[in-house]
Amino acid sequence: MNYLPLFIDTSGKKCLIVGGGKVASRKLIPILESNMTVNMISSDIADEILEIIKNKKNFTYEQRNFEEKDINNQFLIIAATNDKSINSLIAKLAKEKNILVNMAEDSIKGNVLIPSVVDRSPIKIAISSGAASPILTRLVKTKLETIIPYAFSKLADVMMEYRAKVKEKYSSIKERRNFWETFLDGPLSEMVLSGHIEKAKKILDKSLKEKNIPSNTGEVYLVGAGPGDPELLSFKALRLMQKADVVIYDRLVSEPIMNLIRQDAEKIYVGKQRADHAMPQENINQLLARLAIEGKKVLRLKGGDPFIFGRGGEEIESLINDDIPFQIVPGITAASGCASYAGIPLTHRDYSQACIFVTGHLRDGTVNLNWKMLAHEKQTLVFYMGMHGSKVICEELIKHGLKATTPAALIVKGTTADQEVIIGDLSNMPKIILENKIIPPTLLIIGDVVKLHNKLKWFEPMMMQGKKNIRF
Ligand code: SAH
Repeated sequence: MNYLPLFIDTSGKKCLIVGGGKVASRKLIPILESNMTVNMISSDIADEILEIIKNKKNFTYEQRNFEEKDINNQFLIIAATNDKSINSLIAKLAKEKNILVNMAEDSIKGNVLIPSVVDRSPIKIAISSGAASPILTRLVKTKLETIIPYAFSKLADVMMEYRAKVKEKYSSIKERRNFWETFLDGPLSEMVLSGHIEKAKKILDKSLKEKNIPSNTGEVYLVGAGPGDPELLSFKALRLMQKADVVIYDRLVSEPIMNLIRQDAEKIYVGKQRADHAMPQENINQLLARLAIEGKKVLRLKGGDPFIFGRGGEEIESLINDDIPFQIVPGITAASGCASYAGIPLTHRDYSQACIFVTGHLRDGTVNLNWKMLAHEKQTLVFYMGMHGSKVICEELIKHGLKATTPAALIVKGTTADQEVIIGDLSNMPKIILENKIIPPTLLIIGDVVKLHNKLKWFEPMMMQGKKNIRF
């Protein structure tokens, strides 16, 4: 069978749907959206159809059986009754008159397939397996849905709006292609994708007026890479990782995640070296700005979430001072990732009504925290960077009123193939840490929710076998 994919202007064209059950309802939504004038003939109508047609002006319904004359003057017919012989009759009659007909349950017998659609209107991607396998079609659709940003519609809208203006300014096809390629490759398209449409339009207007193609000034993506498991990355993080020219990363970004970065991107490590000297924050800020000013797409990749103990705020502040375009992509923070993968809910109606994320390492190197506020029952404490200060942390919490038997969990290299969960309490956790050679990163969770670990643990680091020894 040969199929020609076509996009047809269907507005106002007549569509007949014979049948009013579940199958008909599946076809109904895209057909109504295409602005056809739809008539449904069926002895009965399913509840979901009544729901779909609410407030739809392009829909009529006749409660009766199909008659041969119904096919006259139709543009498209959907045969979707639960009687196969009637469906076949409809298909036969329609084909004789060269009317497009879709057999809802046996599409080979019709002459039209209704594709699966990835809709980023005005961009539409229609997928068909030529009736071979709807499951395969769905799989392709799901894959495409994940890689094409939702905001692509907005990008297409802007390009549509400026099509004629660009044509007016640039007479040759080559110039126009150059203009649009530069637009799509640079910060203007990212501006549109991240919702700054008016700002992007202003720059477009200016560059058209001056007839200078908006140059790629460079931009910074501050992206959260999550706690370690690459599958915890967001679609947006992955997209920008594959777009960047240069990547600035530190110790907490795991190797499997680094492997997802565009192959030819330059990678600059700014974390702690063996001698324990990380690049000073000030220099990182300058580096980001310099690379962006050179016109590069700079990915600042951070473990977890950039705005949770990630100094993301400081980096963005300096970009704002230099007027450099940027985007921030949140990541799954260590507390969420480690808690989930350790089977420790951070809140629970019976055990904990609040959860506090705390740093166990202050700027001046001390652990002078507000112990009075922290030492309360029925709340969960999550200490980032808490391993070295664990002795002080546990002692102070006991001193300020928490029971020495309050459960504590140390999660080592959470969400990776090397994850370990060590359970103790406030009285013995410092000793456990001292006696075991533990390699960071580790997260300390304190509170009654830790009791749930035994019951709720599910993650088997061995599931990731073959990916052992993830470098942090
Ligand atoms: N921005 C990061 C936190 C950076 S601070 C985030 O949102 O997760 C660094 C601390 O995070 C580490 O010292 C450790 O306490 C914690 N951490 C990060 N990843 C971790 C992991 N996979 N397992 C355990 N702790 C982790």
